[in-house]
Amino acid sequence: MKLYNTLTRRPEDFEPLDGRIVRMYTCGPTVYDVAHIGNLRTFVFSDLLARTLAFLGWEVRNVMNITDVDDKTIAGAQARGLTLREYTQTYEQLFFEDLRTIGIRPAWKYPRATEHISDMIRLAQTLVEKGHAYVREGSVYFDISTFPRYGALSGVSATAGQVYSRLEADEYDRDDVRDFALWKAARPGEPSWDSPWGPGRPGWHIECSVMSTKYLGNTLDIHVGGVDLVFPHHENEIAQTEAATGESFVRFWVHVEHLLVDGQKMSKSLGNFYTLRDLIARGYEPKAIRHQLMTAHYRKQLNFTLDGLAQSTAAIFRLWDFADRLEEVGREGEISDETADVISTAERDFEAALRDDVNVPGALAVVFDLVRAVNPRLARDETTQGDAQAVLGFLKRADDVLGIMEHDRGALDADVERLIAERDQARKARDFDRADRIRAELANRGIILEDTPHGTRWRRSFDVG
Ligand code: AMP
Ligand code: ZN
Repeated sequence: MKLYNTLTRRPEDFEPLDGRIVRMYTCGPTVYDVAHIGNLRTFVFSDLLARTLAFLGWEVRNVMNITDVDDKTIAGAQARGLTLREYTQTYEQLFFEDLRTIGIRPAWKYPRATEHISDMIRLAQTLVEKGHAYVREGSVYFDISTFPRYGALSGVSATAGQVYSRLEADEYDRDDVRDFALWKAARPGEPSWDSPWGPGRPGWHIECSVMSTKYLGNTLDIHVGGVDLVFPHHENEIAQTEAATGESFVRFWVHVEHLLVDGQKMSKSLGNFYTLRDLIARGYEPKAIRHQLMTAHYRKQLNFTLDGLAQSTAAIFRLWDFADRLEEVGREGEISDETADVISTAERDFEAALRDDVNVPGALAVVFDLVRAVNPRLARDETTQGDAQAVLGFLKRADDVLGIMEHDRGALDADVERLIAERDQARKARDFDRADRIRAELANRGIILEDTPHGTRWRRSFDVG
């Protein structure tokens, strides 16, 4: 397959180094708060990439770290008077809940930073011994002047000093502002671990070097993260890992573009974010949110709007409804030549899209083209069980990558039924305002009501937004 490599700035042919197992690492969450759907875009992409690699026949070993010690987690724990672990475990659990809700398959391993402190100390020690790092007042810094390739990934080497803020430059006693901390001396009141340099805690970058190589070996096939991590995080990961091992660290660097809101990066600090929970509380389907995050290629920015989400809602309802109708086909018979053709074209194009730098929007388009091709005959009741089963088989294979078909129909339906019953009550009590509000709420969720002499019926509308 073709996979774009940030390091070489072009798409390259990808194959795992050992020909069989893909060793892949994704920078995971900092568990100081609930993830927003911008974070989830990156994690959904990591899931799509892992599923694509498995679909193409490779075994995937993917690791995602949990950053459970850094400035933000320490500040959060202190503000609430909790231990670091008490504080982070809440957000860690919420993170895993979100992954399940949005249909992300579990990674192979989720190592926590705080459980790898001694490995981090050892790596820092190695770098000191090899002359790549120096000690200042209980902290250890990487000396980037000893690593000539610094900047190869991001291209910022020469101007890196300007990227850091004055504040950050003043914060520690470094030889060069671009030097970064491998180990930070403890400040009063902060959680700390013993080290050869006194009590302290690891720097953020070293966490990823340690947890990736520990489980995947010195050379990874793929390293994934959001574009904001190219510099300095990934540049620093390369420097400290390669300086220690003498081997090439990562073969393919893959970076996911940002999710935007009104043209700006969705972020906690700007306050322009939605969490998965916010959206679900408003009645949106988790799989519609997943679909929305998949509508742009991962190397393109994606602007998040509720209109876009409504379109995704319509899209997945159309797909679910299509599958339901195929399940209900009663006409006996073998698969027709026409259906066989439609499916083999879809199979070919679906795989080709994925092989082309994980073109998920392209793969989605193939699925919806197939729906369009099959629908007219389904509507005319010409589809046989043979046709239906073959089409369902394709949908199932495609969904092994896309992950948008499974849904909790029971819960969704029960919720709608409950609101319909409430509306009936309201109408009987002649509270038409309330009845209308319930109808409008259901309409927002893509549910259309029809009042018939036999009671209220409902159906999904396919033109939400
Ligand atoms: P954090 O929990 O802040 O360390 O971020 C976790 C991941 O989400 C990182 O890979 C970030 O690059 C990524 N990320 C943060 N904001 C966005 C965004 N608006 N769009 C896409 N990815 C993001
Ligand atoms: Zn990382």
